[in-house]
Parts: sequence; structure tokens; C-alpha cells
Amino acid sequence: MRAKLEPTPKGFTTIDPLTEAETSFDEWDLAEPVRRALSDMGYERPTLVQSSVFGHLTKGQDLMVQSKTGSGKTAAFGIPIAQILSDEKKGVQAIILAPTRELALQVAREIEKLCQHMDVSVCPIYGGAPINPQIKALADGAQIVAGTPGRVLDHIRRGTMDTSGIRMFVLDECDEMLSMGFQEEIENILKTMPSKEQRQTLLFSATIPTAIERIGSR
Ligand code: AMP
Repeated sequence: MRAKLEPTPKGFTTIDPLTEAETSFDEWDLAEPVRRALSDMGYERPTLVQSSVFGHLTKGQDLMVQSKTGSGKTAAFGIPIAQILSDEKKGVQAIILAPTRELALQVAREIEKLCQHMDVSVCPIYGGAPINPQIKALADGAQIVAGTPGRVLDHIRRGTMDTSGIRMFVLDECDEMLSMGFQEEIENILKTMPSKEQRQTLLFSATIPTAIERIGSR
């Protein structure tokens, strides 16, 4: 099978996981705690989307990935996040934005499992839940945030979430986020991020309409 690479004018690479070659976790240069977590989770081989994303991310690319729930997309960004995190450093290093609290929680749980052998804390951040425990988790140095755009932006504006150390920025179910009207929040969050050169951006969507390509290029 052949990799389908379509660099967009702004430097994003669009990948179609169905055309990517299958690999095995053994071929990946994974840190020992990540490898052990995958084994504990019973994941024997990567799904197609996981292979595609890992290969391209290690080349330093920003990615736009067309993939659906059930394809293993959460671990597709979760594994590289676990791999790049420094568990000696406190503070947010990776952020995943999701359209609903259910998805944010699901993402947080999967990444917690992937980081189970590391001293890493994952903080779900969504509206409708009391803000003080979230403020405390962030102040205690949570390294990964999985949250909905409105509440994440609220924390940034209150000064309770520092985005300056972020190295991986993921937009999950981007088409859903746009159809739910989160575009402005996402763009305002993006404005506070470190420069493109200092972070990697991953955009996941079941469909990639023009509006999403625009967000990608921004
Ligand atoms: P997702 O698309 O992220 O919602 O994942 C769908 C399901 O696949 C979840 O239940 C995951 O736990 C499971 N899963 C993800 N990656 C793998 C893998 N490499 N091997 C086996 N199961 C997996």
C-alpha cells in the first residue's frame, strides 16, 4: 500500500489512513513506559490510523487526518503525546480539544492508560463541571488537558491555564466542533499557542470541508 501525501499550501499534510502501510509497535522507537502501557492495554499492533500518524509525526509534520470513531484515532494522537511528554516537567504540554464533555472524558481516560507508567497527570476540562477542581489540577501541574473549547478558553482567560509550554495541539472531531459553533473559541485558543515551529498540530475529522482546511492553515 502506498502513502498518500498531499502537502497543503500552509504546510499541513493530509493523510488518508486507508492507504497507509501497516506496521508493528515493535518497529517503532517507543519509550519503555509507553510500550509497557500498550501491552497492558492489550494493543498488539497499531491500527492503520495509528501507523500513519506516528510515522508522519516523527518527521515533524503537522497533520490533517480523516478518520472516524472506532479507527483507534484516540491512541493515534495519544501514543505520540505519551512519547514526547517529559514527566519531569510540570505544566500543560499537550492539549486535545473535543466537541463534547463525553468525548473529552473518553480521550482523557485513554491517554491516562497510555501514560499509566509515567508520572503524568491528565486533566479533563469541560463546562458544566465545577471549575475549582480543574483550577487545582492545572495548578498542580497537569501535563495533558482534554477539554471542550469554551471551558478551555475560560481557563486561559482567567490565567489558570498556561499554554506557553504546549508542544502538541490536537483538534478531535473538528467537523463536529465547527458545526457546534466552536470556531471562534478554537481560533482564540490558537492565538495563545506557541508558534508553529514550537508545536505540532493534529487535526482529526470525519470529513475535511473547506472550513476545516481554513482552520488548519491558520
Ligand atoms: P477510537 O477510535 O479511539 O474511539 O478507538 C476505538 C477502540 O479501539 C477503543 O475501544 C480502543 O480501546 C481500541 N483500540 C485502539 N487502538 C487499538 C489497538 N492498536 N489495538 C486494539 N484495540 C485498539
